[in-house]
Amino acid sequence: MPRPRSLEQDESASDAEDPAVEAMAQRKLLMIPGPVELAEGVQAVLGRPQESHLAPEFIAAFGRALRGLRTLAGSRDAIAAIIPGTGTLAMEFATANLVEAGDNALVVNTGYFSDRFAQILERQGARVSQVRAEPGAIPDLEEVEKALAERRYKLMTVTHVDTSTGVRAPVAALAALAKRSETLVVVDAVCALGGEALTQDAWKIDVVLSASQKAIAAPPGLALATFSQRALAARRERQFPPPSLYLDLEQWLPILAAYEKGESSYFATPAVNLVSALDASLERIFEEGIAPRVARHQRLAHAFREGMRALQLELLPEREASCASTLSAVNYPKGIGPNLIEAIGQQGVQVAGGLLPARKASYFRVGHMGCARAQDILAVAGAIERALASLGHRAGSAVAAVEAALTP
Ligand SMILES: *Cc1c(COP(=O)(O)O)cnc(C)c1O
Repeated sequence: MPRPRSLEQDESASDAEDPAVEAMAQRKLLMIPGPVELAEGVQAVLGRPQESHLAPEFIAAFGRALRGLRTLAGSRDAIAAIIPGTGTLAMEFATANLVEAGDNALVVNTGYFSDRFAQILERQGARVSQVRAEPGAIPDLEEVEKALAERRYKLMTVTHVDTSTGVRAPVAALAALAKRSETLVVVDAVCALGGEALTQDAWKIDVVLSASQKAIAAPPGLALATFSQRALAARRERQFPPPSLYLDLEQWLPILAAYEKGESSYFATPAVNLVSALDASLERIFEEGIAPRVARHQRLAHAFREGMRALQLELLPEREASCASTLSAVNYPKGIGPNLIEAIGQQGVQVAGGLLPARKASYFRVGHMGCARAQDILAVAGAIERALASLGHRAGSAVAAVEAALTP
């Protein structure tokens, strides 16, 4: 609770005057689709004195993080890369190494971040075709199959979970279609890796790309990618190197290999503090286990959706089976709009607005990934219930429905 002004001013050296303490007291539970809440041990890493990128402890941490990323992506022999940047840079990194001007690229479009992939590919000189799903729908596999049969594509991109709609694409089935024509498959798993099931080798994915701040639950600032051996071969078969030196996998290879071997090397300064935080987060992920972690995400996401249904709220995804486990997109009820977000904030929880430009004002998004626990789902469902009531929309009890769903 904020303290009355007069009281605060009377105290000369109390905690209440410390802006950091005050900010903590007013801090909202962060339930947006990234960045997400950090585990205490991950948070603590960020406060350590600055380390050198050549320090033995850091070399060990970077090596572990690279091996951990490969394992998390479900690969034995992919090249794991962690470079300073965001998820968007990871998208550019993946395709910069694979497409050359004039190459055909197919974008399986499920929303905002698929649109972004089309834009990136166009900038990189590719000729882009798209198979579009309506917002909330998953792409029609037959249409994708038809598109792949019509033309020879160098690569196909799929957004595993499109953060604008909360829809999860059927990655394994889509990748299998592309493999028939030896099309390279690039999966944007920024809002999926660490929260959804994905196995790069078994599904024959050529690049899995992600970022640190979503289901992996590390701070923002790292672009992550795992390149299959086929992807590396495609990089090496290019006529010209990628125009961006920074994004050339070939430049990073010796550095990545050195750190994995326990040696240091230099191309561009690693984001030392963030890599160490990522290492700490991956350690927690492997302590929990990948399969139990995916199951936890499914359980919590399902409970959250039950809570929303109890409030008579509709989800943006058309079908329960294609609802992501990492976030939910929920339509506002009649008569209520984006002011709901502020009202939820007053109940102590931060959620996010809509992202699809044409529908922005018709839905909101709740992230439930990373370290999310049952009590966080109860908290956000309760906050939504109370916020709706404060705006005159009274329906059932979200909290009771979440409780029921979480009770075995
Ligand atoms: C967040 C996100 C991105 C972009 O990541 P940034 O770190 O914001 O650049 C790309 N794709 C998907 C699916 C995302 O959820």
